Amino acid sequence: MRILVTGGAGFLGSHLCDRLISDGHEVICLDNLFTGRKENIVHLLSNPRFEFFRHDVVDPFKLEVDQIYNLACPASPPHYQYNPIKTVKTSVMGAINCLGLAKRVKARVFQASTSEVYGDPQVNPQPETYWGHVNPIGRRSCYDEGKRCAETLFFDYHHENRVDIRVARIFNTYGPRMLPNDGRVVSNFIVQALRGEDLTVYGDGTQTRSFCFVGDLIEGLCRFMKQTETVGPLNLGNPDEFTMLQLAELTVKVVGGKSKIVHKPLPSDDPKQRRPDITLARRTIKWKPVVALEDGLKRTIAYFRGRV
Ligand code: NAD
Ligand code: UDP
Repeated sequence: MRILVTGGAGFLGSHLCDRLISDGHEVICLDNLFTGRKENIVHLLSNPRFEFFRHDVVDPFKLEVDQIYNLACPASPPHYQYNPIKTVKTSVMGAINCLGLAKRVKARVFQASTSEVYGDPQVNPQPETYWGHVNPIGRRSCYDEGKRCAETLFFDYHHENRVDIRVARIFNTYGPRMLPNDGRVVSNFIVQALRGEDLTVYGDGTQTRSFCFVGDLIEGLCRFMKQTETVGPLNLGNPDEFTMLQLAELTVKVVGGKSKIVHKPLPSDDPKQRRPDITLARRTIKWKPVVALEDGLKRTIAYFRGRV
């Protein structure tokens, strides 16, 4: 198949491009390189089945493809808050442009939605049936509400125009190719520990997240795209839940060194807890993550060593 990956030069997108190329497909990687890098895809540029297209998803594009994966959107809070209006445009207009293209060429289209649609959840773990607890006018809203609106558009195009959609709600995923200055917690802690700096825990560090290694996530995503039992929304993530203090201690243990923990102010609307209920993914795509946090951290640390 010829497959379009928007956001294909980013962290998840570049791993997805690798996987699709190794599965024998043709890949068109569309990216404006806001948080993505050519370095992530440079090894694919000489492959005749791979094309890079520098473009912004906010502007329409015409391509002939069999499938679309829509991943274009900055994912880390400092990056999506840098220009919040652009973040909303990227999610909403990017979704409209991908859906319009999918409708025209009759392509199956995947949306990278997020656990952020659950906001600061009052239910733990979060099943797909939970409607969420989201502040519509806070610092995180440009991302959360943009992604929620994109889900609405996907389901409306599905119901009104029979577009063949797949919507996954991705929970915190980490691994090689995250940016050293990405701002998300796993890369921040690893980079700080490798530099011998103190680890910045926001708030008291009792808030929780569930961290999925990138290889597990890409496997789930590809299985979801192949099957026809459900269009989603489908949670994809690792159900092992950790506090940020536990993550900080584990990172220092694995990296070694003498870094201490320092506390910084908790950003506004920071979710207190987050953990996916993956019952639906287990049943429909026979998927569960297999890489434990300590193993995934080791592989990610190996990537960052020598780069920071
Ligand atoms: P990332 O920032 O590394 O990748 C995003 C990519 O999209 C980058 O290459 C960036 O340059 C590109 N991009 C941003 N705005 C664009 C625009 N207007 N036009 C074209 N390209 C644009 O982040 P990631 O972690 O790889 O996330 C990929 C997708 O998965 C995002 O949609 C994100 O919301 C979603 N997601 C990721 C996670 C996670 O934990 N990694 C969790 C939930 C959802
Ligand atoms: N966090 C932290 N130190 C950092 C970066 C983040 O303690 O240097 C915390 C942050 O406040 C949040 C959690 O780690 O509670 C996960 O943050 P991240 O930005 O990775 O993802 P998100 O909040 O979007 O899940």
